[in-house]
Amino acid sequence: MSLTRIVRLVFAACSLLAGLNIHRALPAAEPLSLVADFEGASVDAVRIDQTKRVIEFMPGGEPARGWPCWWYFRVDGVQPGETLTLKLKGSSATVSREAAAGSTTSMVRPLSSVWAMPKQATFSHDQKAWRHTDVGQRDGEWMVYTLPAQAESVYVAWGPPFTPTMASDLVRKLAENSPHATARELCRSRGGRSVPMLHVREGDRTDEQRFGVWVQARQHAWESGSSWVARGFAEWLLSADADAAWLRQHAEVFLVPIMDIDNTATGNGGKDALPHDHNRDWSDQPVWTETIAAQTRVSELIEAGRMDVFLDLHNPAPGDPSFFYVLDDELLPEPMVGLRDRFIEKSYARISRIKPLVPMSNKPKTTGPKYHPLWKNISANWVALHGNPHTVSLCLETIWNYQNSTTDGYRAVGANLAQATRDYLGERPPRK
Ligand SMILES: [Zn+2]
Repeated sequence: MSLTRIVRLVFAACSLLAGLNIHRALPAAEPLSLVADFEGASVDAVRIDQTKRVIEFMPGGEPARGWPCWWYFRVDGVQPGETLTLKLKGSSATVSREAAAGSTTSMVRPLSSVWAMPKQATFSHDQKAWRHTDVGQRDGEWMVYTLPAQAESVYVAWGPPFTPTMASDLVRKLAENSPHATARELCRSRGGRSVPMLHVREGDRTDEQRFGVWVQARQHAWESGSSWVARGFAEWLLSADADAAWLRQHAEVFLVPIMDIDNTATGNGGKDALPHDHNRDWSDQPVWTETIAAQTRVSELIEAGRMDVFLDLHNPAPGDPSFFYVLDDELLPEPMVGLRDRFIEKSYARISRIKPLVPMSNKPKTTGPKYHPLWKNISANWVALHGNPHTVSLCLETIWNYQNSTTDGYRAVGANLAQATRDYLGERPPRK
């Protein structure tokens, strides 16, 4: 064999080995694909650049079923350790005039994209532990997030999802683990889905000897953080904390983690759904079964003179901190205004001290005739206007577009809201 031929063979062998090494270090990536056929999922207008590993998308959802700002899907075909790029734009679907922020004409137009674009996207590899991405970057109409993917599939969403299955699991597990909690069904939705409700009471006091407390979340399906706040409230209430035991013994608590169960299940936004959404449905003729059932039970508490604390949980506009919505003082008689302000004071004292910080304003915003034509049909307003003289009825909006708007942050808000409820009721004359 000539020297030249030996050199060629060695060179060929080295190239082959080098090629194998290269192949081992950088295996050919699987094609990325998007999956959105599961509970709560929503995505539309997907385009994938398989070479650059860039996914373009916008929120899905039918505008007739609420603002198309919620998105949630799974990416398959991920090479663990690779970094994906998510490019989000606002939905191009048109919505009603009220929904198009800033619009003063009667034209329909797309929803402002800011509702769909958190500063940080949320992701998970197991649908249990949800984390934030780094802060996204605006690029024209796009919001661009960098996603560090550690498994072959990764779930991404607007915020931490909270699905009907999670609601029924929460209620069932809390009831299994506590003799003081019962898993109930508020009602069946128009879509035939079960609407889970937790009922909590401890000890021998009769119903008449108990304060009535009603907590509900998610009359607007896209506001997933509000269900996490409800979860934090429920978990604290059933904890070993002595104050939690006091509240269980002196009150009867009803807690509904998801009101608009159908739109939550189908990944629709819910807000401004037709003919109107759940939180514009508290009238003499409600159309949603959840509203009918909740209104009936709340009315029973009012008739018994023990509708003490009604809390309706939401997430606010993108730039807002947490805050309470209240009715104009002149629309309410005393002692309602004074008691309400005392409850707000107690809540602010607790929630504003959460570490890490979940920013909250101690200046409530006002609803009323100037806020919305259907202002009387907003749940907290309806309960205040129909309640007992001492009823405290409030809407709490919890900040969603902040670094601590996480599952832990939301649960801390709920736990502190529950503690504030105990603080407040501890000042009230005991029910005999
Ligand atoms: Zn809302």
